Amino acid sequence: MKNEYLLLTPGPLSTSETVRQAMLKDWCTWDDDYNKEIVEVIRAKLTKLATEHEGYTSVLMQGSGTASVEATIGSSIGPNDKLLVVDNGAYGARIAQIADYLNIATHVVAPGEVSQPSLDQVKTALEQEASITHVAIVHCETTTGMLNPIEAVATLAKEYDKTVILDAMSSFGGIPIDIGDLGIDFMISSANKCIQGVPGFGFVVAKQSELEKCKGRARSLSLDLYDQWHCMQANHGKWRFTSPTHTVRAFYQALIELEQEGGISARHQRYQTNQTTLVQGMRSLGFRTLLNDDLHSPIITSFYSPEHSDYQSKSSMTD
Ligand SMILES: *Cc1c(COP(=O)(O)O)cnc(C)c1O
Repeated sequence: MKNEYLLLTPGPLSTSETVRQAMLKDWCTWDDDYNKEIVEVIRAKLTKLATEHEGYTSVLMQGSGTASVEATIGSSIGPNDKLLVVDNGAYGARIAQIADYLNIATHVVAPGEVSQPSLDQVKTALEQEASITHVAIVHCETTTGMLNPIEAVATLAKEYDKTVILDAMSSFGGIPIDIGDLGIDFMISSANKCIQGVPGFGFVVAKQSELEKCKGRARSLSLDLYDQWHCMQANHGKWRFTSPTHTVRAFYQALIELEQEGGISARHQRYQTNQTTLVQGMRSLGFRTLLNDDLHSPIITSFYSPEHSDYQSKSSMTD
C-alpha cells in the first residue's frame, strides 16, 4: 500500500518506506536478537548522539513522549524537593501539570507564549527559594516553534547546583546539542519526532549518577525510570514489561537513516533550509509569523491566521 498521506506535523511525521518496512517482522520482547542486537545498540547510539561526555546512559520507556516526561519528573524529584518549571507554551505547562498530579511542589516561571523566560526571574527564584532542587525547561516549544535559551538557563541552574531536566522532544536529532556541555542531567525525547521513527516509546538520556539517585523514588510502577533503566542495564536491553517491538525495530532503522543523512548537523541543515523556504514563501503570500526570526526553531513555525480583510485584498489582487 502506497503511503501518499503527507504529515506536516513535527511528529508523528511521515516516515520513510524503509522505516515502515522494518516493522514487517514479529519480534519477541525477551529474546537476545531483539534485546542485545536492537535495544542495546539503540541505547548506545542515543547516548552518543546526545553527548560526547562520559558518565551518561540511556533508557527507553513505553508510551508517548509525555510518559517519558512523567517518568522523569515522577522518578527524579524526591518527596521534599521542589521543581522550577519554565512555562512558555503547552509543553512547559504540561510539565507543571504532571508535577501537580504527582503532588510535587513547583515554582512556575511563565513569560507567556511569545516570550523567552527572563533570566532575572529564574535567578531570583533560585536565589530566594532554597527549596528548589530541580529546573525543567522545554528546548523547542512545539506550540509556537520557540527555541528556548537552554544554554543560559542550564548554566544558571548549575551555578545554583540544581538538577536540570530538558524536554528536547521535538529538537533532539534535529538540532545539535551536547547535553554534557550544558550540564543537563535528564534529557527526554521520543521515537516519532526528529529521529523520524514511528510512535510508541520515548527515551531519556541521563547522567548515570543522577539516575542512580532515582532508586525507590518513583510514584508509579510502570513509569519507574530507575527500575526500567536498571532492568535494561542488568539484562542487556530487557524491558520490564512488553516493549513496542515493531516500533523499536523501526526506530533502529530510523537511526541508521539519520547516520546515512550525515548525522544531526546535516539533518539540522535540511530542516533549516526547509523552514527558511517555507517562511519566505508564506511571507510572499502575505502571512506573518507569530515569532520573530531570532526566536525560531527550524522544527515548527506558527503563522497568524490571515485576517479577513487581508485575505480579501490579496485575493482581489490576484483576481
Ligand atoms: C511531542 C512533544 C511532547 C510529547 O508529546 P506526546 O504527544 O506525549 O508524544 C512533549 N514535549 C514536547 C516539546 C513535544 O514536542
